Amino acid sequence: MNTIGMVAVGPVDPPLVKAIGEHLSRTFHLPVTILEPAPEPVFAYDERRGQYSSVLVLRSLLERAHPAMARILGVTAKDLFIPMLSFVLGQAQLNGRVAVISLARLQQQFYGFPPDPELLRARAIKEAVHEVGHTFGLTHCANVRCPMSLSNNVQHVDTKGPVLCTACTTVFNEQFDHWRAGDGPPGAAG
Ligand SMILES: [Zn+2]
Ligand SMILES: [Zn+2]
Repeated sequence: MNTIGMVAVGPVDPPLVKAIGEHLSRTFHLPVTILEPAPEPVFAYDERRGQYSSVLVLRSLLERAHPAMARILGVTAKDLFIPMLSFVLGQAQLNGRVAVISLARLQQQFYGFPPDPELLRARAIKEAVHEVGHTFGLTHCANVRCPMSLSNNVQHVDTKGPVLCTACTTVFNEQFDHWRAGDGPPGAAG
């Protein structure tokens, strides 16, 4: 069966992972399987930057991806980077199998405010839809209310909603129909 696998990379609140999974399942019409948490991604730590390499975390997720899983999403509390940017809220292989989101900058504590678990959950859900959406071939959306619009900061994450816009839904449904017709999930070879 095709499912979306989810894995906490390092310590993450289990109810938060579950809430993200429920929303992903509704959005992408696939069951979600929550895997055993992965250990702290020490292999991805960059001492000079004090952050974790998003690319190395994605690579480690691929190793965990069971063939029955169409997609796998990692959720980590670590702050992620790619070489050209000071940070990323998440990363995905476009039309690939793996994606990751970082909770670090979605937490109010990061900005010196008291923790707000509900706000964190709302933000994490939007970023999870965004990154998993990329794995299903969705690209950045010009609709600022759509979770597929690009967020470079948390203010913008708060502007958008958790539900795909009509245009993105249409693109996803087309991909999904091809998939069910037997073509297999787009780009999910290997
Ligand atoms: Zn994006
Ligand atoms: Zn959209």
